[in-house]
Amino acid sequence: MNRDYSGTGDRETRWLAMSLQYNELDRRIDEFAQQCGASCPWGCGTCCTADYEPEVTTVEAEFAARWIIDQRPDLEQRFDGIADREYCIFYDQENPFHCMIYAARPIICRGFGFSGYRDKHGSFVYRPCRHMTLTPVSSSCSEGPLLPDYQVQYTLEYREVQPISEAIFSAWQKLKYYDSLSGGDDQDEAS
Ligand code: SF4
Repeated sequence: MNRDYSGTGDRETRWLAMSLQYNELDRRIDEFAQQCGASCPWGCGTCCTADYEPEVTTVEAEFAARWIIDQRPDLEQRFDGIADREYCIFYDQENPFHCMIYAARPIICRGFGFSGYRDKHGSFVYRPCRHMTLTPVSSSCSEGPLLPDYQVQYTLEYREVQPISEAIFSAWQKLKYYDSLSGGDDQDEAS
């Protein structure tokens, strides 16, 4: 499942890899949710407003920042509120779908409540969100997505983690800088 792109330094390749991984993870989550009867309460969003802001890798943050620059530059103003935020700056309280960067959201945002881990015997253990409505957890939940399987493998730097708002802000600043350089070389430090 993991693709090793550590030998490829350009951003386009990394983002393409992320896009493929996200598509595959979304497909697997849909499949698992159907099998297992797992779903979020309508309009919930509690996971995005918890005290703990999820941490994401640099490569996930760059993917989201690139999407914002290319698809939703109006969202750049959200960075103005980063110092005063209570939770992820891309959470929209007014919209029942909540996430402003849904198409580019990181892995933890996709898989929270719809994934699990392996115990010391190698068995899959489903970790649902406590707010979810579940048909009784059964054997149909006995094998599901493992989020680390969907992390694209890169150099250590690209696996560093930061709280989601700060990570995407840093990535956005970096990409804006690169964009400002005419003919900037995109074969960067990850190679
Ligand atoms: S990126 Fe979207 S899904 Fe992830 S924490 Fe922020 S609002 Fe929630």
